[in-house]
Amino acid sequence: MLSGAVPSPRNPPSGCRFHTRCRHAREICKEEKPPLVTDESESAEHESMCFRNMPDHQYWQSPSLEEESQTAGQQPREDA
Ligand code: SF4
Repeated sequence: MLSGAVPSPRNPPSGCRFHTRCRHAREICKEEKPPLVTDESESAEHESMCFRNMPDHQYWQSPSLEEESQTAGQQPREDA
């Protein structure tokens, strides 16, 4: 679930365009745009653009933006 304001399409965020509103966002999401991945293992072809669907991606070692905001003394997001 996304929360917060929709970013301007004229000036989208770096990396994944959802990273400012995604509760699963990690540091890598600010830097890299996730590629389009096709999962053909399901009965119907499924496409996604999210590092969470890439089990071997460095996303899983990247620090959580939620943890980062807490260590910086900021309030956690309400949807966490
Ligand atoms: S890549 Fe996935 S986890 Fe990262 S911000 Fe985008 S939607 Fe969220």
